[in-house]
Amino acid sequence: METVDMVVIGAGVVGLAVARRLALAGREVLILEEQPTFGTQTSSRNSEVIHAGLYYPTGSLKAELCVRGKEALYRYCVERGVAHRRIGKVLVACDESELAALATYAQRAAANGVPLQPLTAAEVREFEPAVRAVAGLYSASTGIIDSHGLMLALLGDAEQAGAMLVTHTPVVGARIESDAIVLRTGGEEPFALRCRGLVNAAGLYAQDLARRFTGFPTDRIPPTFYAKGHYFTLSGRAPFQHLVYPMPDHAGLGIHVTLDLGGQGKFGPDVSGWPATPDYAFEAGLEDKFYRAIRRYYPDLPDGALQPGYTGIRPKVTGPTAAAGDFIIQGPTAHGVAGLVNLFGIESPGLTACLAIAERVWEEWRP
Ligand SMILES: Cc1cc2nc3c(=O)[nH]c(=O)nc-3n(C[C@H](O)[C@H](O)[C@H](O)COP(=O)(O)OP(=O)(O)OC[C@H]3O[C@@H](n4cnc5c(N)ncnc54)[C@H](O)[C@@H]3O)c2cc1C
Repeated sequence: METVDMVVIGAGVVGLAVARRLALAGREVLILEEQPTFGTQTSSRNSEVIHAGLYYPTGSLKAELCVRGKEALYRYCVERGVAHRRIGKVLVACDESELAALATYAQRAAANGVPLQPLTAAEVREFEPAVRAVAGLYSASTGIIDSHGLMLALLGDAEQAGAMLVTHTPVVGARIESDAIVLRTGGEEPFALRCRGLVNAAGLYAQDLARRFTGFPTDRIPPTFYAKGHYFTLSGRAPFQHLVYPMPDHAGLGIHVTLDLGGQGKFGPDVSGWPATPDYAFEAGLEDKFYRAIRRYYPDLPDGALQPGYTGIRPKVTGPTAAAGDFIIQGPTAHGVAGLVNLFGIESPGLTACLAIAERVWEEWRP
């Protein structure tokens, strides 16, 4: 049986960032990916926003790694020529009842080290003439990014440093031994492989996979919830210069406007279902809900302007009635298995935080 130093399971943006970090540190790295290519799951079904870090509870991993990851990501994009733009974002309170929540986010952002500028209703209109609000906050450090370009750059760095990506290779289980982990793969040519270090970066399937690690303490595996979100694209030219976000709802950030690097506007994601298994089908009948939510801050949205876009699924560790959970980066001190790091619940802002998550994972092995 072959032995490799480190294996990363999953070639999404987080697995690729981790593989790059480990390879740059001189470790031998193999990335095993079930799909025919990298980045086909959550990493290509998101808003492509570089988040500022204003929403997450102070002291949480989400807050810390978002703020640190944002700075690292902007630097990386410049160094590696990854397309991005510091476009800025306006967070709006649509009526008086939302002012208290707006104030809470202003305080939280200050505590998280995120600069924001308070906006009056008139100032919101100067920023975004098409938007109606009673007050707002402007976040200058929010941006947009070409997530595929980012993943290409991360993979390029990892390969340059000696890492190898093997696609069409689902990991179906593992056996934990005293000094190594033995993996089993499925696919057309199944094989077994011994590794000294393993990172479970399987995204939506990370908990499911950990349950198939014989010898792993199952009480350390958090529950799994999938929160589905839909995007509608805006036909015609978007009348916005910045990203525009309403107040967050329970499990998401509210049906917001994002612009891609080509200037195309899109709205979403909503939270429209908690499927038992991941399912990317675009559900019918959501138009009314989207028109209503968007017209609270963009009243002139024309009839017929929304076209069904795509869906994404948030890998969550808490369900519909609980408060949002934090990222779980679970290394040997948390579960007692030498060499293994599980990444659970890496929902938003995982894209923004990918380089900081990779640094945190590397710290688990740093001598
Ligand atoms: C609707 C939505 C909007 C979002 N918007 C933003 C945003 O604007 N900004 C932001 O910062 N974050 C955002 N996020 C979060 C961000 O997209 C994710 O945190 C990030 O993409 C997670 O990357 P990942 O590598 O952990 O997971 P994934 O991209 O899902 O990658 C996991 C990989 O593991 C592979 N895999 C799974 N099981 C196995 C197995 N057994 N064997 C081998 N391979 C396996 C999968 O095929 C996949 O390629 C959003 C998320 C959602 C759902």
